[in-house]
Amino acid sequence: MATIETARGAIAQKDLGRVLIHEHVFLMDMEYTFNYRPDFHSARTIDDAVARLDELKNAGFDTIIDLTVLGLGRHMPSIAKVAERTAVNIVVSTGAYSFDAVPAPFQFWGPGLLHDTGVEPMVGHFVSDIVEGIADTGIRAGMLKCAIDAPGLTGGVERIMRAVGRTHVLTGAPVTVHTSAKHETGLIAQKVLAEEGVDLERVVIGHCGDTADIDYLARLADRGSMLGMDRFGVDFEITMEQRVATVAEMVRRGYAGQMTLSHDCCCWSDFFPEVDDYHRAMPNHHYLHIHDDVLPALRAAGVSQIDIERMLIANPRRVLASQLASH
Ligand SMILES: [Zn+2]
Repeated sequence: MATIETARGAIAQKDLGRVLIHEHVFLMDMEYTFNYRPDFHSARTIDDAVARLDELKNAGFDTIIDLTVLGLGRHMPSIAKVAERTAVNIVVSTGAYSFDAVPAPFQFWGPGLLHDTGVEPMVGHFVSDIVEGIADTGIRAGMLKCAIDAPGLTGGVERIMRAVGRTHVLTGAPVTVHTSAKHETGLIAQKVLAEEGVDLERVVIGHCGDTADIDYLARLADRGSMLGMDRFGVDFEITMEQRVATVAEMVRRGYAGQMTLSHDCCCWSDFFPEVDDYHRAMPNHHYLHIHDDVLPALRAAGVSQIDIERMLIANPRRVLASQLASH
């Protein structure tokens, strides 16, 4: 039987149901949080995450992909506690998130460095997270993640991206790339990942929804990748109405099979002094915004229910199915 790894173990592929392909549960600078934010360790943090995810389940969504990797505060014991209690499936990720340098330990450790390993040590970590599980929790990662933002392909960004690409080739795990649509960095990610032998149909170009530039989006999609229209609720550079109009136009042009919808939100973050400040500052940035506000707007813009379900069910399932290559 075709199965997908989640924080509660493997589930049948068909049980993925409706998927939000780019979300987080907790987002933090872990060193900061563990020194200055005792509230992270309160029972309320877990309880609140479980409640928010269960509301999502009640709204008819079944799975989130948590793209919290090295650099964003991935703390698997906390995710395991939430996964035990919520009805939502949480697919967890491996990889690294940086716009510039590699994670600090790898500055001195790697091919041609002070401690010359000959091979890229990040690949070993990522493969182990996918094949054996993360930090002795037994929870296996189902998605790879890297990033390329405004600074472009810096040395560190390229090293992480190529490590992610090599891990994909070894394991079959799909890849999500955080990109800057404004700087069109999705095209650079496609070029580098293709050089590493990655099947671009297994790549989600994240944050495509941050632009209304249809030509750029079509260029990415025409190379086979999935477009993450994945920041609904982030309303300060582009409005929900513009995001919806862009999705509707892409559907009209025949790209419904290559888009997914998500929020890129979280339940708890240290990006604000108190977690309530986050929810006050970004009132639409929560797991229910797509259900409550975006789907009605897409329907009003002429997107059919069949195309909506494609973006929420069939498309994420097709991306995640590449996990199967590793089993
Ligand atoms: Zn994210």
